[in-house]
Amino acid sequence: MRITILGAGAMGSLFGGLLAEQGHDVELLDVNPTHIEKVRNHGLTLETEGKGARVVRLPIARPQAAASGPDCLILFTKTLHTQGAMESVRHVLDDRVLVLTLQNGLGNAERVAAFLPMSRIAVGVTTVPADMIEPGHVHSHGAGHNRMMMADGRPSDALQALAEALTQAGLPSTLDATVQAAIWQKAAFNAALNTVCAVTCATVGQVGRQPQARELAHDIATEVLAVASANGIAVDAKGLHDTLDHALDHHLQHKPSMLQDLLAGRRTEVDAINGEVLRVARWLGIDAPRTQALDALIRVREVLVLNSR
Ligand code: NAD
Repeated sequence: MRITILGAGAMGSLFGGLLAEQGHDVELLDVNPTHIEKVRNHGLTLETEGKGARVVRLPIARPQAAASGPDCLILFTKTLHTQGAMESVRHVLDDRVLVLTLQNGLGNAERVAAFLPMSRIAVGVTTVPADMIEPGHVHSHGAGHNRMMMADGRPSDALQALAEALTQAGLPSTLDATVQAAIWQKAAFNAALNTVCAVTCATVGQVGRQPQARELAHDIATEVLAVASANGIAVDAKGLHDTLDHALDHHLQHKPSMLQDLLAGRRTEVDAINGEVLRVARWLGIDAPRTQALDALIRVREVLVLNSR
């Protein structure tokens, strides 16, 4: 398959590198000049569990220079960069390309739908972990799973083919008609834990040791699930609270991405997480006071870290 990866950071480089290893014709697109230079001149160093580190050679370019005619485009920018990134690849969005987003947060299909019809957009959720060790070098410390479906709910041979290609590349992928519940469950998890860690500058373990903070995280999750439920999406509440407890008890040193973004002086994905939950809540006439409070606090921290750069 001809596959374009838009946003070749931790996740995009991992997915692109693994697909290229299987012989697919993959092109990475990014705006980070150091990463582009490293991958172009030295290849992409890929490190995955069980296979160790190796160098994968594949093309990388700025989005404006993207080659035309991919079968699919996998979008892996942070959500706040979706619009700019999609804008810069308008020239490859012909009438047959499939766009898949596995980004975190809510409203991803709607953001992409500004550029092509819902009938060619696939949405999903991934539990595959990835970190950028340094430009040109990505690492994945464990297994994960991708669930996806077409945004308009229809079956798609193109998405089936992409899911099979991903699975063969070591990224197990299934088509799942209930993926919206999984997307909301992950958004609830992130709204609960990422925000509390990011506002307090605490690791997951530090939040987990504080009973009041633990309770707050669970209360936020419950609040988000109430919005999902009023929106017609039934999320497995016990599964979500169990997952939260597991993270609070075991991922002790972990700094969620929202905290990592603030520590690195970057904006976060709060608008696609808390922001989207609050937009849906407002539309339904529901209050979500804890989600709203954390949303406001994160936005204050964003301004402070951006001003201090
Ligand atoms: P990342 O910051 O490592 O990568 C994003 C990349 O997008 C960067 O390399 C950046 O330079 C690039 N970019 C920014 N603007 C761009 C533009 N206009 N055009 C092209 N590229 C552009 O982020 P990540 O960790 O790979 O996460 C990507 C998405 O996947 C996020 O929504 C995240 O929440 C989600 N996610 C991440 C993980 C993980 O373990 N890293 C797991 C599940 C989901």
